[in-house]
Amino acid sequence: MRLKDKVALITGAASGIGRETALLFAAEGAKVVVVDVNDPAGAETVTAIEQQGCEAVYVHADVSKSADCENMVRVAEQTFGKLNVLFNNAGIMHGDDDNAMTTSEAVWDLTMNINLKGVFLGCKYGIPALKRAGGGSIINTASFVAILGAATPQIAYTASKGGVLSMTRELALIHARENIRVNALCPGPLRTELLMKFLNTEEKKQRRLVHIPMGRFGEAKEMAYAALYLASDESSYVTGTEFMVDGGITAAYVTPQ
Ligand code: NAD
Repeated sequence: MRLKDKVALITGAASGIGRETALLFAAEGAKVVVVDVNDPAGAETVTAIEQQGCEAVYVHADVSKSADCENMVRVAEQTFGKLNVLFNNAGIMHGDDDNAMTTSEAVWDLTMNINLKGVFLGCKYGIPALKRAGGGSIINTASFVAILGAATPQIAYTASKGGVLSMTRELALIHARENIRVNALCPGPLRTELLMKFLNTEEKKQRRLVHIPMGRFGEAKEMAYAALYLASDESSYVTGTEFMVDGGITAAYVTPQ
């Protein structure tokens, strides 16, 4: 088992990437702290893990709120005794996130607070716990749009994910000698609720598919396997990376500087 005896906290674990990762981490031996704002769906993730014969606990936390993030880490340590893996994965893609002229300040602020400040707060309270455990692995979910501009405008989302990538690099450097590794997971376009709600017409879906060399959307499970590698000791020399799992989309468009 690749995560035997580890304790992993996953935000946004009620759905999509977070849920698939929670199920996979548990199957690989981790005790999982399932964090979300969607309580019924979070509880379903815990039930599914328990049905696998594994251990998990649900914590309600809005990652944009400091007290909630402090509490989720406290619950992890109180319930399972330590924290080894912190997966800052919760994020939103607001339906009214558009170009700079049309996006409201409210949508900008909400997106930044969840997608970017949420990662900061996870680290603010999670890093001391990882230190107490003797080190660990942090995975921050960014996106391919942190590298490329998105063809369907989503200015706040793209900017927030760029921030996640920059923050990940700095965190990796600052904590490199404390046995704490920090990597960004950069998914390509996935067939999860988040993107399918945003690309809500066949035309918008096709417009995105045109850019993906593999010609299909990715699956949350495919992100979970990448997160498993970054969480496990198999990636012990990997820190500060942009781990692209994107069906080839960035290879098609990014040219070396
Ligand atoms: P999803 O909508 O299926 O899951 C996101 C989860 O985050 C939901 O359970 C939601 O309730 C939770 N959440 C939202 N706001 C929260 C908050 N304030 N506090 C705690 N939890 C909150 O989406 P997903 O596709 O699994 O996305 C997961 C991550 O992957 C996000 O950061 C997203 O930006 C990123 N991502 C997704 C795609 C894609 O195509 N789906 C591509 C690149 C990156």
